[in-house]
Amino acid sequence: MTIHLPELCLVALVGASGSGKTTLGGRLFAPGEVLSSDAFRVLVANDENVLDANGDAFDALYFVARKRLARGLLTVIDATNVQADARKRIVDLAREFDVLPVAVVLDLPEEELLARHAARADRPFGPGVIRQQVQQLRRSLRRLQGEGFRHVTVLGGAQEVQAAQVVRERLY
Ligand code: ATP
Repeated sequence: MTIHLPELCLVALVGASGSGKTTLGGRLFAPGEVLSSDAFRVLVANDENVLDANGDAFDALYFVARKRLARGLLTVIDATNVQADARKRIVDLAREFDVLPVAVVLDLPEEELLARHAARADRPFGPGVIRQQVQQLRRSLRRLQGEGFRHVTVLGGAQEVQAAQVVRERLY
């Protein structure tokens, strides 16, 4: 699948933990373009799993996102974004800078996500968290356009995630 993006947009990666957001972001975008909540938790708290650092981490992430958008630079938010209030913040930010908000959804089967989670040593939460995120993602799918995302791409499985490509288009 080819994802067509305006040269300047704000991209929300949307997917449960382990769906491959960071891997995909690293393949499709330049390092500075991807702002990862994990990386910002490390920056503010030394550990990507300190969830009580979320407030500070997202403050810092949005601070940097604003600096980038003010420079006219495409920016990708790499966080689960399965909750409507997290996505609202992204849509509001895009509107603030008059850029298009875009969603790229990684919609993997729950069994595959649970198997990946079980194989990871770097995620100290239980499988219930993954199940909840999958449910939140399901509920989110039909709401994204209405929330204000102008382009929505749903990658419906690991193969589609692995095959995804991005083409950037200049809008006149
Ligand atoms: P998180 O939200 O927990 O940060 P994520 O959605 O960003 O996760 P990644 O960090 O890209 O996902 O990958 C999470 C785990 O899933 C890693 O251990 C990675 O090796 C594994 N993984 C990612 N893509 C694939 C794939 N195509 N096949 C198998 N394992 C994968």
